[in-house]
Amino acid sequence: MFEKIVIANRGEIALRILRACRELGIKTVAVYSEADRDLKHVRLADEAVCIGPAASAGSYLNIPAIISAAEVTDAEAIHPGYGFLSENADFSEKVSQSGFVFIGPRPETIRMMGDKIAAKKAMQAAGIPCVPGNGDPLGEDEETNLKMAREIGYPVIIKAAGGGGGRGMRTVHTESALLNAIAMTKAEAGTAFGNSTVYMEKFLEDPRHIEFQVLADSHGNAIHLGERDCSMQRRHQKVVEEAPAPGITEEQRKQMGERCALACREIGYSGAGTFEFLYEKGQFYFIEMNTRVQVEHPVTEMITGFDIVKEQLRIAAGEPLSITQEQVKFTGHAIECRLNAEDPKTFMPSPGVIDQFHMPGGPGIRCETHIYNGYKVPPYYDSMIGKLIAHGDDRASAIARMKTALSEMVIDGIKTNIPLQQSIMADAAFALGGQNIHYLEKKLGIH
Ligand code: ADP
Repeated sequence: MFEKIVIANRGEIALRILRACRELGIKTVAVYSEADRDLKHVRLADEAVCIGPAASAGSYLNIPAIISAAEVTDAEAIHPGYGFLSENADFSEKVSQSGFVFIGPRPETIRMMGDKIAAKKAMQAAGIPCVPGNGDPLGEDEETNLKMAREIGYPVIIKAAGGGGGRGMRTVHTESALLNAIAMTKAEAGTAFGNSTVYMEKFLEDPRHIEFQVLADSHGNAIHLGERDCSMQRRHQKVVEEAPAPGITEEQRKQMGERCALACREIGYSGAGTFEFLYEKGQFYFIEMNTRVQVEHPVTEMITGFDIVKEQLRIAAGEPLSITQEQVKFTGHAIECRLNAEDPKTFMPSPGVIDQFHMPGGPGIRCETHIYNGYKVPPYYDSMIGKLIAHGDDRASAIARMKTALSEMVIDGIKTNIPLQQSIMADAAFALGGQNIHYLEKKLGIH
């Protein structure tokens, strides 16, 4: 196992990684921006190195600065967390070239999954069900493109191969709008992603978002830890996640989970990963693979009792998976509410000093946050300040525990989305389970 690693991230995930390291006896190096001196994990880490200014371009995205922090502290590996450089193939390549271990998959894998066309092709080849549409780059021939859309059937969606973060996509409902939409998406993709390649697929109108967690080691072993439902979204951002996904049968879980694990073996995947699917009318359609730990990983940990971050560290250190598929057991139901420093009505970020913070507790409650009394939420980064996770014997008891925990939680001094989360937990349709990805925006009156 490693003796010392660099945590190249901030906030709750940096603290989460630090805790996993402590349990495994690994020393930690926190790297932080000038705005982040007071982060909880910076105080708790064995060493801390300032890597640049508040703006993340100069700090958390500054590859040379992060690698030199690893050099000066004599660390062996770098954990990228999520966001920032976690899915940057050039970063992972440079980390390896500089003699450190990148805690994640190989650069070739990250690069392939970052290109939506390459990812779709690889998944089709590995037997993963994909959204209808062959995934070939669209050429200039107008007749060919019109014919393709007719064959797929409207509505279709034009997607940029290099797109991400919900950008670089355009939905087309009628033939008369198709050619113009292709031209516009191409032009935008060229400017935004430096790659104007676009492709076409069926637009699914009312899908749910269901994703499978996988773990694969460097010895050819791969397992799945079941699925999560992340359909409660606003602007393609997940707000509430849960595991298992309501209504998914044991048979579906086994079949899809095993297909994902098999695909990992076929592409030589190593590390933790997530296969994201749209789910409609009983069918799964692959949309993308995330090659990192996800914000919502705790709901899977709660129902499996398994530590995904510790396993990432073991896999990167070259150890074989510490469990087999047969040993994975699912117990009860878990729900996660993301906590954001934002106005619950306008969604405007609300940075500032936290005057009072009271953490909820009780059976089945887990709070992942880096905030504390007197902590100042900086205005420079994502507004997520933590996550509240509730586990219960079944979905109803997880919701009941989450309601109690939200009512106990006090965060004063800044605005938070706790009232929004309370209204979701009290929502009758949410209580039924299985709502689609548009439900939350409809409830909020956005559609
Ligand atoms: P990104 O990498 O930008 O997150 P994704 O391919 O994961 O792109 O898609 C983001 C979101 O866009 C999905 O969660 C879904 O809401 C919507 N989307 C993508 N493809 C389709 C599709 N074929 N039909 C309907 N919605 C889609």
